[in-house]
Parts: sequence; structure tokens; C-alpha cells
Amino acid sequence: MKLENEDALDNLIICGHCFTLHEETPIKDGAKACCVGCGAVLYRYDTKLIDYGLSLSIAGLIFFILANAFPLVQIDILGTSQYITIPKTIYALFESGFFLVGLLCACLILVFPLMIFLINIMLFSLFHFKRGKALSKHLLILLSHISPWNMVDIFLISIMVALVKLIGLAQIHMGISFWTLIVFVGIDIYIVKQIHISELWMLRKRLLLDKDKS
Ligand SMILES: [Zn+2]
Repeated sequence: MKLENEDALDNLIICGHCFTLHEETPIKDGAKACCVGCGAVLYRYDTKLIDYGLSLSIAGLIFFILANAFPLVQIDILGTSQYITIPKTIYALFESGFFLVGLLCACLILVFPLMIFLINIMLFSLFHFKRGKALSKHLLILLSHISPWNMVDIFLISIMVALVKLIGLAQIHMGISFWTLIVFVGIDIYIVKQIHISELWMLRKRLLLDKDKS
């Protein structure tokens, strides 16, 4: 296949399962295109994803703010009681001189997850109003760079492991943040599983680029 310029690459799509190269063709709203080789879904075009994604992202952001605003756990040990919040944990690392670890933790469990949900809200809003051709491109590129660095789920599992180890040594009370963090991680995993980044590129192409051509 001869490509005349780099833009021609935008019309090609590779199957993630069998690596067969396909030429992208416009499909109807709500339809999906499948690989001719293995039958795996190549891409979907569904405008319902916009409102669906926007409401999930806003809900996720609310739970994330709640998870950071309230105590995660309260630990009673030898008559003293201490409660832990996510910002307090990061601050404690900085205070103890672990600047690099603190910075890494701040990015992985606070800054990046917050950025991902804000970017999602902005993207779905832009798609909804059919605006921001250039901005949506930058946001999508940024999203694909930072998505792998969202590690709130790993943080939640590590808290659970730490709490299991503390059972018997201390009295543990789960705070509001613990439950809101679980809901946030659930929403986060659901968005990642249900709305693939390639579908967001497809929505951008159909809603913002094709709009200019027509
Ligand atoms: Zn395939």
C-alpha cells in the first residue's frame, strides 16, 4: 500500500489481536467495525458514549474529591488515635525527607488521577458542544501519556494489605474516604474498560473533523 502523506496513516487501523491492517471506513452511529481476520472489534462509533462518559467522569471526580477530603482510616494503637488522609500521607513523606517518593506518590495517586478525570470531562464537553478541534487533540495525546500512570487502584490494594497486617495490633476504623475511594476506583476501572481511547479519537474525527468537511 502506497501512502501519499502522513495524514493517510490516520485512515489505517491495525487489529490489536491479529495485527491485520485495515482501512477505516465510516460506520453508522451505534455500530462497530470488526476485523476480517479474527472478528475482534476494531472500533465503535457511538455518540451515546459522550453523555455516558461525561456523567461517569463527573461522578468519578466528585468521589475523588470526597476521597481526599475525609479520613481514610483511623488507627487506635496503645491508647493513641490517629487518622490518615491521602494528602496527609503525601505530606508526611515530604516532612520525613522522602521528597522523591513524596513527589512520585503525589503524581501517581493525586495529580494524574485528578488530571485524567478533568481531561475526560473537558473532552466529553467538547464533543458534546462539537467544538475545540485542536484542544481535543492535545487533550487526547496528554490523556494517552498519563493514563498508564494512574495508580489509585494499586494504592487502594496496598492500603488493604497494610490494614490486614495491622489487624490484631491496632483497632482500625474505616473512614468515609475509604469507601469513596473504592467507588472512585470502580468508576475509573469501568471507564477504562468501557471507553477505549481509540473510541474517543473516533468521536473527535466524526464530530469535529467531519463536521468541517460537510
Ligand atoms: Zn484481527
